[in-house]
Amino acid sequence: MKNKDILKYAFFRKEVIEFDKANVSIAANSLQYGGLVFGGIRGYKVDENNYKIFRLYDHYKRLMDANKIMAFGYDISYEDFKNIIHKLIKYNTPKGNFYIRPFIFCDQEIMGPKLNKLTFDLAIYMQNLDDYVNKESGIRFMTSSFRKYNDSAISTKAKVGGAYVNSMLATHQANICGFDEAILLNDEGHVTEASVANLLLVRNNQILLPIFTDGSLEGITVRSAIDILKYHNFKVLVRNIDRSTLYTADELIVTGTAMQVFYGQEVDGRKITHGDNPGPITTLIQEEMQKIIDLKHENPDFINWLTLFKI
Ligand code: PMP
Repeated sequence: MKNKDILKYAFFRKEVIEFDKANVSIAANSLQYGGLVFGGIRGYKVDENNYKIFRLYDHYKRLMDANKIMAFGYDISYEDFKNIIHKLIKYNTPKGNFYIRPFIFCDQEIMGPKLNKLTFDLAIYMQNLDDYVNKESGIRFMTSSFRKYNDSAISTKAKVGGAYVNSMLATHQANICGFDEAILLNDEGHVTEASVANLLLVRNNQILLPIFTDGSLEGITVRSAIDILKYHNFKVLVRNIDRSTLYTADELIVTGTAMQVFYGQEVDGRKITHGDNPGPITTLIQEEMQKIIDLKHENPDFINWLTLFKI
């Protein structure tokens, strides 16, 4: 089925070509074994000639770290990566806000998960994207019985294609049980994250972040939210979080490139205190983020999170 939101040009085999012509073999090694790493980046249209991208360098860095962790051996400088994104924006001239999906993959028709025989390459496509979640009400979560894998099995610092079957199973379970999204605990029962987003909690006037070593991805949006909170002199406590802490949270803040900054309404049928509307801390982060994206924030360090492209 064709996705009408996908933009016409993609980067594939070292050049910009039509997305429809960027095809791989069904025997591609990455397709068979899930060995690929990917990123997800937000872009915004400013006007007919200008676009801006949120934290491009940080997304590049996480993708390259993932490539290193997975021993894929691909290499590209930030300058070259940025130039490809610029070229793609020029070719695609998105009509509104968009999403960029870069990934490092192997389409050789080689059987077996044998990294030393494989050569990896970069591909990038873009699609239109405004809201990823229905913004009428907060997210109704279920804690999944599918546990988050741990870093000694598959890196939790890399967005590894095959590892997303974990998110898939948890989300599917939540959906067939009538919930919107899943929260994954790790093998010790500690809260890690949602299927494609990080969590921040507000409880008893404390702001809590599940420690990354419990298994959550080092999200770029949650790091931005923390920087905003620190700028406003809030402390963020980083620790293990158990499920009852979730149930008794005053605010459950959900962050990710796709969802941006949003809020949880309930977890396993237990209502979050500020579950009907975004709570005060959620609102502060949302408003500050909007100011940053609009290039109106007074802190130049935050404005520098945006890379501007002229076409
Ligand atoms: N956790 C997982 C598993 C994710 O896939 C994502 C989306 N990239 C996030 C958290 C949020 O990370 P970011 O804010 O960098 O998009």
